Amino acid sequence: MIPGLPTNIDQIKGFLSAGEGQALYDNALQASQSGPVLEIGSYCGKSTIYLGLACRPNNSSVFALDHHRGSEEHQPGEFFHDPDLYDATQGVLDSFREFRRNVTSAGLDDVVVPVVAGSESAARQWQTPLAMVFIDGGHSLATALTDYRCWVPHLQRGGVLAIHDLFEDAYEGGQAPYAVFRLAMASGLFEEVQRVDSLGILRRL
Ligand code: MG
Repeated sequence: MIPGLPTNIDQIKGFLSAGEGQALYDNALQASQSGPVLEIGSYCGKSTIYLGLACRPNNSSVFALDHHRGSEEHQPGEFFHDPDLYDATQGVLDSFREFRRNVTSAGLDDVVVPVVAGSESAARQWQTPLAMVFIDGGHSLATALTDYRCWVPHLQRGGVLAIHDLFEDAYEGGQAPYAVFRLAMASGLFEEVQRVDSLGILRRL
């Protein structure tokens, strides 16, 4: 039971299971007592809403980072392309309009701070320590590694690192998020605390 969860949450475009949403909410509810949450790869705002609802009672914020031009797999002709999100006049994917509509209708405009930029651009001048980082951006190895390297240095001790789309078997999905997960574990900086579907939750030691 998540207070304020929109009744249409399952109709919001996205790739997050209800169990994963609950785990994001539970971890963010605790973590956001000590700082803001940063999400990488907000797409249409489904996971952002779970994180925002967790931040609200703590007067915390979710920085929702996404260039909103879609990852590799969202481009025309690719497997996860959604024609509804294609801006034909500009010839680009644009998930920001749908994102904003969903966040507004969930009543979270004062909690969610959209950062419409790439990961490296946004990280360059970043100073704010983060209580939780959720990596759910592009699935190429280069992109996933960039997200990890840009943002993990800003994660507080004791903070939560969540990574979506962990598939140990390459037949189930791309391997880049799992490579980032293994890198985090091998660094000695993290312990794994929870796994729900393809979502891994780690804590920074
Ligand atoms: Mg994902």
